[in-house]
Amino acid sequence: MRRLTCHRARRDRGLRRPGSRVYKAAPDLRKTSSSLGGRVPGVGGCRNNKTDSAAWHDSGMAAPRISTRIAAIAESATLAVDTKAKALKAAGRPVIGFGAGEPDFPTPDYIVAAAAAACAEPRFHRYSPTAGLPELRAAIAAKTARDSGYAVDPTQVLVTNGGKQAVYEAFATLLDPGDEVLLPTPYWTTYPESIRLAGGVPVEIGADETQGYLVTVEQLEAARTERTMALLFCSPSNPTGAVYPPDQVEAIGRWAVKHGLWVITDEIYEHLVYGDAVQVSLPVAVPELARHCVVVNGVAKTYAMTGWRVGWLIGPPAVVAAATNLQSHATSNVANVSQAAALCAVSGDLAAVQEMKAAFDRRRRTMVSMLREIPGVDCPEPHGAFYVYPSVRGLLGRTLRGRTANTSAQLATLILEEIEVAVVPGEAFGTPGYLRLSYALSDDDLAEGIGRISALVSAG
Ligand code: PMP
Repeated sequence: MRRLTCHRARRDRGLRRPGSRVYKAAPDLRKTSSSLGGRVPGVGGCRNNKTDSAAWHDSGMAAPRISTRIAAIAESATLAVDTKAKALKAAGRPVIGFGAGEPDFPTPDYIVAAAAAACAEPRFHRYSPTAGLPELRAAIAAKTARDSGYAVDPTQVLVTNGGKQAVYEAFATLLDPGDEVLLPTPYWTTYPESIRLAGGVPVEIGADETQGYLVTVEQLEAARTERTMALLFCSPSNPTGAVYPPDQVEAIGRWAVKHGLWVITDEIYEHLVYGDAVQVSLPVAVPELARHCVVVNGVAKTYAMTGWRVGWLIGPPAVVAAATNLQSHATSNVANVSQAAALCAVSGDLAAVQEMKAAFDRRRRTMVSMLREIPGVDCPEPHGAFYVYPSVRGLLGRTLRGRTANTSAQLATLILEEIEVAVVPGEAFGTPGYLRLSYALSDDDLAEGIGRISALVSAG
């Protein structure tokens, strides 16, 4: 309990926990990075732990023991916001949720039908190989060659419980204690926790809207030390929607090869790029990187399958074999019915994602133009995924409905409580002063939700 209180206190004072390093180089970066470190008050896991511990204490029972390693993890703020919004909605409140990182479409019928058929097959009622159904591994290899031009052998594929487990296992397999991982910031909230859980040290590299949320080779090189082991690369990005242009992808890949670094590249939004943006797979842009590269991907975003929990990692055979050993002791095979659904998804065409993409693109443009109308909101145009990541620094310190939000976390709480709109504060992604809004929701809800924010701000 003491330990938890200590983490909370440190967090509330805006200090970083031990085991992380914020890279401070150029003054413009310092501005972003130095304000990092705030967890999201009100949605972090420590808060819940503390409350639970306090309840135990009050009841006269000994507080439950939580290891230092696990107590240091913050709850996923994105899931926390989503859960809170869904609970309010279930209670009949007219909540508009911009928090979810998932398509609002149902999984296509033909994929559901494949899963239903799999339920009736006795072989799927049994354990199956940890690394995945052989036919699914082969189909993922074929899909990877088809979609990104990366030729891999099925033995290089490990099927995981979602892309999230792939991220976790990649770091657990590659990192030794103290290894540094360069982490472009804003980052997806799970990356730093996975790095720390593996004993690694996330090194945040700030890239704000003035540089399109894209880190440069110069920044990476300035942050590199003899302890740098890997780079986390995510394009299209969650939370910013930024997409690295091909020449920048190649430059980063060449830099990594030159310095013998590993790259974990998260391609889960590969098919969700808009306008002229193109997604380029790092080991395709720089083939020499393949022996030091782990690709993370999954069916969640492309086929509206977030609940099915199927992702994968692709890497050198030795890394995949080691990660498979880890998974064999942690979770074994991914649920066979879900694997059968994923097999149907990746073996089929991309018509469903094209349809969703057209809707996302329309909503993206609507959202950007509506947000740009709101004074105090500075909204860059995202080119991929389904998020916008506006700066709301212009709204901080202002009085809205008699309340003043001084941080983006406070603003997100105010927005949820006053107008029942759920957004994720930038603190969850390492950059206070921003909000992440998903546009994977209906056009009507989108207009209603942004309309409420606009009315809140103009009423003051
Ligand atoms: N990577 C990124 C960048 C994501 O946004 C997500 C989901 N929010 C994932 C990986 C994991 O997806 P899943 O575990 O649902 O497959």
